Amino acid sequence: MIPQESRKPMFNTPHLLDQLVSLTGIRDLELLEASLLKTLNGFIHPTSLSLYKVSHRGEVRSQVVFGPERCQVLREDFEIRAELLQIFGQHRSADSAHVQLDLADGILSVMTLMDMRSTTTYLVIGGTEALRDADSRMIEGMLQIYRNFCQLLQESQTDSLTGLANRKTFDECFSRVYELQPFDEGECKVEVDHRKPQIQTTYWIAMIDIDHFKSVNDRFGHLYGDEVLILLAHLLKNALRNDDLVFRFGGEEFVLMIRCSGRDEAAGLLERLRTSVESQDIPQVGKVTISLGATEMLRNTFAGTLLDYADKALYYSKQNGRNRLTFFEDMVSSGLATREAPPSENLDFF
Ligand code: GH3
Ligand code: MG
Ligand code: MG
Repeated sequence: MIPQESRKPMFNTPHLLDQLVSLTGIRDLELLEASLLKTLNGFIHPTSLSLYKVSHRGEVRSQVVFGPERCQVLREDFEIRAELLQIFGQHRSADSAHVQLDLADGILSVMTLMDMRSTTTYLVIGGTEALRDADSRMIEGMLQIYRNFCQLLQESQTDSLTGLANRKTFDECFSRVYELQPFDEGECKVEVDHRKPQIQTTYWIAMIDIDHFKSVNDRFGHLYGDEVLILLAHLLKNALRNDDLVFRFGGEEFVLMIRCSGRDEAAGLLERLRTSVESQDIPQVGKVTISLGATEMLRNTFAGTLLDYADKALYYSKQNGRNRLTFFEDMVSSGLATREAPPSENLDFF
């Protein structure tokens, strides 16, 4: 039998470098994950290849499954082997796992890919035989390059004061969410899952601006102003659900994209947010309030115009007492604003 280390490793180094070059050219975390799986698949030819995102409480939030055509992201109703659940449950986030499971139907290698924002991402490689040491080392090296690159990418997409996604990231996410929105209210708004009662949802966009923030800076100084921004960012993050997105848009302006079944749900969430800010007693600073302007993200409005609508609604809140929420839709129905002509489906929006 050939000793393990003298067997030729499966990796082809120049080709590997090409793959790493293309991997590090990607600026989108989801595409990056898919690209990593594709690269690994090309080198180790596994029988299965998946990423599992696990909360620090051991709950599996999603699975990314590599397939020859495309990677599939499963968020619910996926089956996980009990042996994997056991590893996810036992693993402490500070450690880097590299566990090999010898199962009746093959071998699963489990490695920690990332540990970020209270979520651990595990890479699970299925095979008919154990990974060779040289290949394991090569995979570990690739994963480390991936981690370093993700960290840099994350930093470039995040606002350093509040830890929220920054304006640059907003521009990218906005067009991605916009593309997925229905063209008008009559169109089916969600993928149909016949096992569940169908709830139609769309994204709603809300612009938020702190009221009289300049006076906070003027009275208490810039550092206290910064504390208010951090506190508000924290409140926004805590108020949002899984599919919602929050960005620091600029100075004391924030943007939310919330997935809601209708205006009432959007209004409920945004009103709760407004009252929770209003009820805070911030040390030294005291009370701070926010004004909000919101609109539904439908594609029969130009992407850029949607932001204008939310901005107009925000302006109306500012002009009418502040510390309030206005929907652009309500401005239209009460004759305070008019909609622009809808774009054709074939036009480019940016
Ligand atoms: P309004 O209710 O009309 O929104 O009034 P405002 O005072 O909030 O609005 P204005 O646009 O006049 O002032 C915004 C202030 O936000 C001015 C700027 O100094 C402050 N600001 C912007 N970015 C930051 C930041 O990162 N930290 C701090 N502390 N202040 C900031
Ligand atoms: Mg402002
Ligand atoms: Mg302001």
